[in-house]
Amino acid sequence: MTAQHEARPSTGHRSAEFLRLLAENERYTDAFDRSELTAAPLSGLAIVACMDARLDVEEALGLRTGDAHIIRNAGGIVTDDVIRSLIVSQHLLGTDEIVVIAHTGCGLIDADEAALRERLTRETGQAYDIAFGSFHDLAASVRSSIGRLRAHAWLRPGPIHGLIFDVSTGRLHEIAEG
Ligand SMILES: [Zn+2]
Repeated sequence: MTAQHEARPSTGHRSAEFLRLLAENERYTDAFDRSELTAAPLSGLAIVACMDARLDVEEALGLRTGDAHIIRNAGGIVTDDVIRSLIVSQHLLGTDEIVVIAHTGCGLIDADEAALRERLTRETGQAYDIAFGSFHDLAASVRSSIGRLRAHAWLRPGPIHGLIFDVSTGRLHEIAEG
């Protein structure tokens, strides 16, 4: 290890949970055997999914290290930054198929964005005009995400699939494009 890559302690309080992560990583490196992988995903897949902790994308889809790009955010919605990542994924790293995954019980379903903005503005004295991407209908939200992807000239016209993950059964349901 060169001095340049030497690990430095992060600033701020290191919680017991954070220290556990570092200990787990020690165990992980002991068995690490993926050093031969390149950055290009083996499956050619890029997956856009909600960050929900109950949705384990790799487990649910049988993906292993090196198989796919997994881009996650609150709601699994297609934001400008998701499009940025997908352009890199497709044009620099060769993926050509996209899967969008939303899920039941998402925190953004019918979330009151105005109330959240008002509360945080009140608590901090600082206002931001942040859109959180709340939605009412899961399937409609996935269809609208796919529509955004299809409409972007810099994304390949390849297959785009929509799925809804049921957090109570672990089952994925395919969404037909509307
Ligand atoms: Zn969610």
